Amino acid sequence: ELSRLIRENGSLADVDLLKEEEGTSVKKSGCHGFCEAGPLVRIEPYNYLYLKVKLEDCEDIFKQTILNGEPVERLMYQDEKKVYKTQEEIPFYHKQTRLVLENCGHMDAENIQECIARGGYEAFSKVLRTMEPKDVCKLIQDSGLRGRGGGGYVTGKKWGQVLSQPNPVKYIVCNGDEGDPGAFMDRSMMEGDPHKVIEGMLIAGYAVGAHTGYIYVRAEYPMAVERLKLAISQAEESGLLGENILGSGFDFDLHINKGAGAFVCGEGSALTASIEGDRGMPRVKPPRTVEQGLFGCPTVLNNVETFANVPFIITNGADEYKKYGTKDSPGTKAFALTGNVVNTGLIEVPMGTTLREVIFDIGGGIPDGKKFKAVQIGGPSGGCLTFDERHLDLPLSFDSLKKVGAMIGSGGMVVMNEDTCMVEVARFFMSFTQRESCGKCIPCREGTKRMLEILEKIVAGNGTVEDLDLLKDIADTVKNTALCGLGKTSANPVLSTLEYFHDEYLAHVVNKI
Ligand code: SF4
Repeated sequence: ELSRLIRENGSLADVDLLKEEEGTSVKKSGCHGFCEAGPLVRIEPYNYLYLKVKLEDCEDIFKQTILNGEPVERLMYQDEKKVYKTQEEIPFYHKQTRLVLENCGHMDAENIQECIARGGYEAFSKVLRTMEPKDVCKLIQDSGLRGRGGGGYVTGKKWGQVLSQPNPVKYIVCNGDEGDPGAFMDRSMMEGDPHKVIEGMLIAGYAVGAHTGYIYVRAEYPMAVERLKLAISQAEESGLLGENILGSGFDFDLHINKGAGAFVCGEGSALTASIEGDRGMPRVKPPRTVEQGLFGCPTVLNNVETFANVPFIITNGADEYKKYGTKDSPGTKAFALTGNVVNTGLIEVPMGTTLREVIFDIGGGIPDGKKFKAVQIGGPSGGCLTFDERHLDLPLSFDSLKKVGAMIGSGGMVVMNEDTCMVEVARFFMSFTQRESCGKCIPCREGTKRMLEILEKIVAGNGTVEDLDLLKDIADTVKNTALCGLGKTSANPVLSTLEYFHDEYLAHVVNKI
């Protein structure tokens, strides 16, 4: 019967008939994260998670589970030891701590009532009722929350700097312009729990005295845009956005801006320029965004995940938040785990979790019995870390990665096996950054082009040993002199592969392979 309904309606989510006829609730939730095992079906209240579900499985699910509460074991995760009945037992989820993603996949993302029933907007209400703006900034600073967009700047400090600006007009901007290849953390949060992001922005607005916010989302994320729009209108209807919110006298309006897909628009000053209607190009700093950001006014600019961390901190306090993560990087971090790994998907782990735990315990290791070779972290701006004890047992935090020439970035994590050519990897990322360079400053505009030319020459078997010296020289120059983060970090994949995979470069230039 279920199969028939799905066939007739197109998808499970469209089978409204189920609600009326069978007393079964069909919800449009967000992503569960276990992409490799999809399509997934989670059955409440048993917490059963069915993997790789096909249309022909629906009849058994309906008869056994929905009508009788019995599990369909063949659809459950299993290894040689046992069948893992509940979602939380499955190794992919077991080592995760989902604070920011807690509602993703578990809640109707299009229903504000359900969000409120799960504690949504409680933190904002607490702030309005019981806290002064400066106390909110202090609490966020005490929690040690650092910006999840890549830079790792202390969020509460940034908010405090905006609060202290004399300009009465201030803005809150959420950076949802997730452009790294292989990254989809922010997208999943905006699709799966849009109200958490909105709540974080509302709290930021109250904390710094801003009354207008903008969410800058890639146009390539249509579901995120639609769900955010719906969430904003529901929050307005519920009196959680607009004038005199909950009778507090605090006003806040929220708008959505769609980005057209330029990678550089993820850079703060380019992003604000784009919202203003100008071409998205970075500008020279200072003045910093906290002093003169959007429309020349003091602006809090944080990314989606940073805002999504805020309600937990307000509700539970700084000390509770600091129980997760490390001393210098408290809390959790979401990563998009992709590439040559068994369990690809979206994960959230406490900061300080090692690469070995992420790749082997959660990720299930490398498919087809191949050996692990490297992991590329932080998108095109990150570095490539190698396989050795030092790196594999490296705790993931802002500072530990920086020490080895990589960066957390926004959280893209691409795993590579022994068959991967690291020179080709460097060439791929350089072709991406070269294409995305806005061309404003010479080191990046010319430097990425020259580095790409040399890498192409080497990959084609025409490189020389002298080319390696020149490549390193240009990479160092671009890193030290480019205007914005895109250019400064564009050399990272080149520098890290030159350092950790020098033999592969030599094999190309000496053996001409
Ligand atoms: Fe543009 Fe690159 Fe210069 Fe940034 S570093 S301003 S992207 S040319």
